[in-house]
Amino acid sequence: MTVSVTGATGFIGKRLVQRLHADNHNVRVLTRSKSKAQLIFPVRDFPGIIIAEESGWKDCIEGSNAVVNLAGMPISTRWSAEIKKEIKHSRIRVTSKVVDLINNSPEGVRPSVLVSATAVGYYGTSETRVFDESSPSGNDYLAEVCREWEGTALKVNKDVRLALIRIGVVLGKDGGALAKMIPIFMMFAGGPLGSGNQWFSWIHLDDIVNLIYEAISNPSYKGVINGTAPNPVRLSEMCEQLGNVMGRPSWLPVPDFALKAVLGEGATVVLEGQRVVPAKAKELGFPFKYRYVKDALRSIL
Ligand code: NDP
Repeated sequence: MTVSVTGATGFIGKRLVQRLHADNHNVRVLTRSKSKAQLIFPVRDFPGIIIAEESGWKDCIEGSNAVVNLAGMPISTRWSAEIKKEIKHSRIRVTSKVVDLINNSPEGVRPSVLVSATAVGYYGTSETRVFDESSPSGNDYLAEVCREWEGTALKVNKDVRLALIRIGVVLGKDGGALAKMIPIFMMFAGGPLGSGNQWFSWIHLDDIVNLIYEAISNPSYKGVINGTAPNPVRLSEMCEQLGNVMGRPSWLPVPDFALKAVLGEGATVVLEGQRVVPAKAKELGFPFKYRYVKDALRSIL
C-alpha cells in the first residue's frame, strides 16, 4: 500500500510512519520542511520514503491508496488572538489542500481512504456528561476548531472512505502533554491538578497509531471514531497513578498556574476535560493494548 501522511514529523505521525515503513508500505511524507523531515527520516533508516514539500504534494497524493492527515499547529502554547487564529487555520488550510488534491485526482490514481485527525475537544468540557460519537459538539473555542476542521474533511468526495479520528490526550514517551507534565510533577510532588474532578480522556501512543493504521486498511472504519482508551479517568486518578509510577507521593496539589506555564492556555485540555468513550472502536472490536491508565503509564515511564 502507498500512504501519504501530513504532520508525519510530529509526535503521532513519526510513530505511524515508522510502523508503516516497518510493514513494507510505501510512505510519502507531506511536510512544510523537507530538511526537517530528512533529519527525522534519514534515508539510511527509511530507504524508499518520499519526502515532499507543498509543491510536491499533488504528485504524492495521486497514486496513494490512502492519505492520513495529522498536520496542525500545536495547541500547547500561549493563546494570543493571532495564535488562536493559526491553531484553527493551520488545520483547515492543510485539510482543505489535501481534500482538494484528493478530489481533483484523476480516477484510477485517486486515494480511496482519508483518515483525518480531529480531537475530543469537539465535545466541549464537562465534569458530569459522558460523550460518545453521537454526542453534540460543545460551544467553546476548541469545539469550534474541531467542527470546522471536521467540516473541511467532510468535503472529500463521497467515493472516498473518510475516517475522522477524535483523538484524546495521547500518552507516550518523548512528546505530547505527558512529557510537559512530568517536570511539573517532579517539582510539586505530583498531587492533583485543580479540583481533580475534571475528566481526562487519554490514549496510549501505540493504540492511537494502531487505530489509525487499522482505519487505513479496514473498510469498516468510517465516519467519526473516538480515539480514546476505554477507561477515561478523573484527573485526580491520573495524577495519583502518575505519582505512583514516578515514585512521588501524590498529596500536594499542583497549582494550575504551573501547568499553564508550560502548556499555555493549551493546558485547558488537561485542566478542563471531558469524559469520552470509544463506542465505535469497541463496536468494531478494536484491540486496545492499554485499557487502564496505570498500565499505560507503567509502559511509558
Ligand atoms: P504535533 O504537534 O507533534 O505535529 C503536528 C505536525 O503538524 C508537525 O509535525 C508539523 O509537520 C505540522 N504543523 C505544525 N505546525 C503547523 C502549521 N502552522 N501549519 C501546518 N502544519 C503544521 O502533533 P501530534 O502528532 O501530537 O498530533 C497530530 C494531530 O492530532 C494534530 O493535528 C493534533 O491537533 C491532533 N491531536 C493530538 C493530540 C495529542 O495528544 N497529541 C490530542 C488530540 C488531537 P511539518 O512541520 O512536517 O509540516
